[in-house]
Amino acid sequence: MKEKRSPANLEASWKEKDLVSGKVSDAMVMIMRTSGCCWAKTGGCTMCGYRQASLNVVTEDDLNKQIDEALLKYKGEPFVKIYTSGSFLDEKEIPIPIRERILKEFSGCERILFESRPEFVKKDVLATLPKTATIALGLESSDPDILKISINKGFTPEDSRRAGLLIKEAGLKVRTYLLLKPPFLTESAAIEDAVRSVKFADEFSDEISINPLNVQRGTYAERLWRAGELRAPWIWSLAEVLRRSSGNVNARLMSSPSGGGTSRGVHNCGNCDKEMLDSIERFSFSQNIKDLNTKCACVKDWQTYLDSERILGTAADLERGFDNDLALGRERDG
Ligand code: SF4
Ligand SMILES: [Zn+2]
Repeated sequence: MKEKRSPANLEASWKEKDLVSGKVSDAMVMIMRTSGCCWAKTGGCTMCGYRQASLNVVTEDDLNKQIDEALLKYKGEPFVKIYTSGSFLDEKEIPIPIRERILKEFSGCERILFESRPEFVKKDVLATLPKTATIALGLESSDPDILKISINKGFTPEDSRRAGLLIKEAGLKVRTYLLLKPPFLTESAAIEDAVRSVKFADEFSDEISINPLNVQRGTYAERLWRAGELRAPWIWSLAEVLRRSSGNVNARLMSSPSGGGTSRGVHNCGNCDKEMLDSIERFSFSQNIKDLNTKCACVKDWQTYLDSERILGTAADLERGFDNDLALGRERDG
């Protein structure tokens, strides 16, 4: 039976490390329960399971109680990240008095981050935000066709670019999210797309975060995954995108994969996954490609995978035939 979730409670919160003015610092992350992303209500993006974290009715009173809960957990971390499973700047999701209260409560922070779709990024709104704000934009891909057909994003790369430039003009920071391996792309096409997208995003981004596809429940991507029509990307592919992009952009490159090391998330052979993911985390802080120098024999399997996909011209999961559990739609560990 589905757990009954109270709209007066945060969906989740935790502490982690991130950079503040170039220094590794403590950060508090809070995920608020809201009425959700406006775009998800009309179908949403093919890989997004955020609808699951949203509720039909969330009142201002509920949102205030969530802020109270966050303040009880807040221990003066210099960086606070507020995720809403949608757009912080959408007034229907976060009414203006709630936005104002959050900004006031955390006004002592050195850095505050929230996400928004580009249509809510407007000059007059930006003027009301503190200079400590970083706005995260989910660009996903710089290819308009991929954005439309594979992701169903509902905006164009140019829309993100316009929003990013406006944010920079207002003196705030931009963290851009890119999706590594949208549905229908082969592994090698996904690597090329991500490398191109990093270059595109650099113009208006202070940070570029590569999010490898994580197969979330109830999504179109999950249907494809269950049918064996996609494999979450290899960690080798993620490392390749970071390695090829490093030194070519001004933005900080980073990745903090969800579901890493599971069959739903970015994964390798299973033996090297943890070590590789740790190396990606180290690189995200150091920007030193030497941190990506992990070794494992499965690099050959990855190369064979890339070659086989090219020859067969398919993005289907080529490992699936060798894995009975997955062929039956059961999950290994994700
Ligand atoms: S990925 Fe972002 S824009 Fe797309 S449906 Fe999810 S929350 Fe909305
Ligand atoms: Zn391996």
